[in-house]
Amino acid sequence: MTTSLNQTYDYIIVGAGSAGCVLATRLTEASDCQVLLLEAGHPDIHPDVRDPTKWVTLFPGDLDWGYMTTPMKGCNDRVDHVPRAKMLGGCHSHNANAWVRGHRSDFDSWAYAGCYGWGWQDVEPIFKRIEDWQGPASEHRGTGGPIHVEPAKDPNPIAVALVEAGPSVGLPIAKDYNGLDMEGTTLFDMTVKNGQRFSVADGYLRPALSRKNLTVITGAHTHRLLLDGSNCVGVEFDNNGVAQAARTSGDVILSSGVIGSPTILMHSGIGPAEELEALGI
Ligand SMILES: Cc1cc2nc3c(=O)[nH]c(=O)nc-3n(C[C@H](O)[C@H](O)[C@H](O)COP(=O)(O)OP(=O)(O)OC[C@H]3O[C@@H](n4cnc5c(N)ncnc54)[C@H](O)[C@@H]3O)c2cc1C
Repeated sequence: MTTSLNQTYDYIIVGAGSAGCVLATRLTEASDCQVLLLEAGHPDIHPDVRDPTKWVTLFPGDLDWGYMTTPMKGCNDRVDHVPRAKMLGGCHSHNANAWVRGHRSDFDSWAYAGCYGWGWQDVEPIFKRIEDWQGPASEHRGTGGPIHVEPAKDPNPIAVALVEAGPSVGLPIAKDYNGLDMEGTTLFDMTVKNGQRFSVADGYLRPALSRKNLTVITGAHTHRLLLDGSNCVGVEFDNNGVAQAARTSGDVILSSGVIGSPTILMHSGIGPAEELEALGI
């Protein structure tokens, strides 16, 4: 982690969450590719982040953005917290650690709707490449990949009873919901190793941190994109209270999450014109 900036980068990645950690690691495999990864939050070293049973204690708090909903009519106007992690690893540093690839038919329906390259037969080899599966060997599971995945260990007896009760109400027991047998009741596979959370930051980013072509800055809150006409040439960010700018000769990649990425775009004047005008942007 360093705060000295190059004059320019090939890529600036905003947000070191699930997506940002993978992108930064894969892009810096090419040693001549200079990458700056900016993360608004803290490192992910808090003991309650490492302990996978403590995830619900992590929000709201310092490691979370503290987003709240507007009053929700369908919930008697209740206002609720929307958890979004603010630290290295993003939401994979405070999520439930369940490893769920998604149902084959979801991917196939995307491909059918025109999203070519995202059908099950396209993504399954990539899931396998990601995984270091510790359960029973299967041609549908990957081993040796960066993300440690293991079957649930020492499950609560209530969970086991719930799974076993499935067939009594017509739900089969899914033998491998991340493999071929995706429907039914089951226990989650977990991204937990030796009783500790094993996040995308652990599997991808940490092994790449010693690369000379990767700069990671935490406490770096990006406010907006620097635009030259319609070209994005960099970002403005706040580095632990100090305003800074970083420039790219290539691309800025927004991987700031489902709320963070559109916020940065809108602060940069990119978004629904009426809403932006009303806010004086
Ligand atoms: C409580 C909870 C439980 C979940 N449980 C599971 C689960 O068990 N299994 C599962 O598969 N999925 C789970 N998910 C979903 C999963 O964790 C997310 O879908 C995934 O992590 C999102 O990845 P992302 O890269 O899109 O965003 P994030 O991981 O949210 O990363 C965005 C990063 O960008 C940073 N950022 C945002 N704005 C800025 C800015 N302006 N400047 C700089 N940095 C910024 C954030 O701090 C964050 O680190 C859960 C999510 C939550 C919230």
